[in-house]
Amino acid sequence: MQKQVTIIGSGIVGAVTAYYLSADPTLNVTIYDEGIGQATKNSAGIISPWLSKRRNKRWYELAKAGAALYPEIVQATQMGYSVYQQAGTIVTRQAPADLDALYDLALERRQQAPQIGTVEKLTAAEVQDRIPLLTNPEPGIFISGGARVDGDKFAHNLLKYAEQRNLVRHKGKVTLGDQGQLLTPHGQQAYDTLILAVGAWLKPLLLPMGIVADVRPQKGQLIELQLPESWGDDVPVLMPEGERDFIPFTRSKLVVGATHEDEMGYDLQTSELVEQDLFASGVKLDSRLTTDQISQVKVGTRAYTRDFAPFFGPLPDNPHILVASGLGSSGLTTGPMIGKLLADYVQTGQQTDWDRYQLSIETYLEDAD
Ligand SMILES: Cc1cc2nc3c(=O)[nH]c(=O)nc-3n(C[C@H](O)[C@H](O)[C@H](O)COP(=O)(O)OP(=O)(O)OC[C@H]3O[C@@H](n4cnc5c(N)ncnc54)[C@H](O)[C@@H]3O)c2cc1C
Repeated sequence: MQKQVTIIGSGIVGAVTAYYLSADPTLNVTIYDEGIGQATKNSAGIISPWLSKRRNKRWYELAKAGAALYPEIVQATQMGYSVYQQAGTIVTRQAPADLDALYDLALERRQQAPQIGTVEKLTAAEVQDRIPLLTNPEPGIFISGGARVDGDKFAHNLLKYAEQRNLVRHKGKVTLGDQGQLLTPHGQQAYDTLILAVGAWLKPLLLPMGIVADVRPQKGQLIELQLPESWGDDVPVLMPEGERDFIPFTRSKLVVGATHEDEMGYDLQTSELVEQDLFASGVKLDSRLTTDQISQVKVGTRAYTRDFAPFFGPLPDNPHILVASGLGSSGLTTGPMIGKLLADYVQTGQQTDWDRYQLSIETYLEDAD
């Protein structure tokens, strides 16, 4: 008999999990999503974890592994340039000593992470050569392995792919009963395995089961501009020192962002002040930008844990329910690996090497009383 796997949430984690599980004909997979505020579809799309200053080694292993999965998945599902493009990233530093230190770090990290690709130290003029949009370039380090992804299209394509195999999709909000009963808009549904890939919404979803997840929401906004000029697919992403990231997307779409707004809960309202602030950051890099080129302000809700690290896996007292959350500001990068590990677990029951990637899941879950 086929096993029923039900996934809640179709962001990067839910979509990648569904993609991997779709290769297994012994499973029926169903996904529910209420379709609001997901981080994945409102993200900036930078995949470039290698020069991060974060000291958390487990996060770094997860991010490295997630970044390495993109080329594989993109090739297997034949996604095009408008979804994912490994055009490299440039990280700028004004002080020559900081630039040298970053260059050395990139070379050192490349020894364990060949995905970094080529590493080059660029003058301001060379940076401008690579990103002709810039009117005010700074010197920087280029790494060819960096990439940009359209999170919305990536997840959407994976779900479409999985639907051609064993996935059924439903729109709607689900809740849980105190014993983990799954209550959907179509009534209570049975499952063999339930995967809660609900991002920032894990805490309210688990509360009826008497579990408090260490997850808090953080609001993030970015602006998209539609520019008159177009550029090639090989223009890298810019991570400028002290300014918002600057992401020349496909041909004439530029993304500037993003904000990190604590204390805003699940608020999804755009803010004019924030829009102005993001635009001001963009203008410092390209002084020709005008406000009427802003085509969209996007808002998403990230999920954070106390130590800023993601967590995933079966609930300690209920191995039929898997959870994943806390992906924070680098969830597009870590998400693919988390989805793959969850899918592996569904198929094998094994948690091979998971302690390389995260602390024990108990760290992030407490009893309500
Ligand atoms: C502005 C912004 C910029 C970002 N930029 C980057 C970046 O450049 N690089 C990077 O690596 N990461 C980035 N991130 C982070 C990344 O987007 C997130 O960490 C990641 O997308 C989280 O994925 P997820 O699958 O865990 O959750 P989500 O994408 O939030 O998906 C969870 C889904 O669950 C659904 N859901 C929740 N509760 C229920 C329920 N009860 N019933 C049904 N459905 C439910 C929601 O509707 C949602 O669709 C950015 C995030 C933001 C907001």
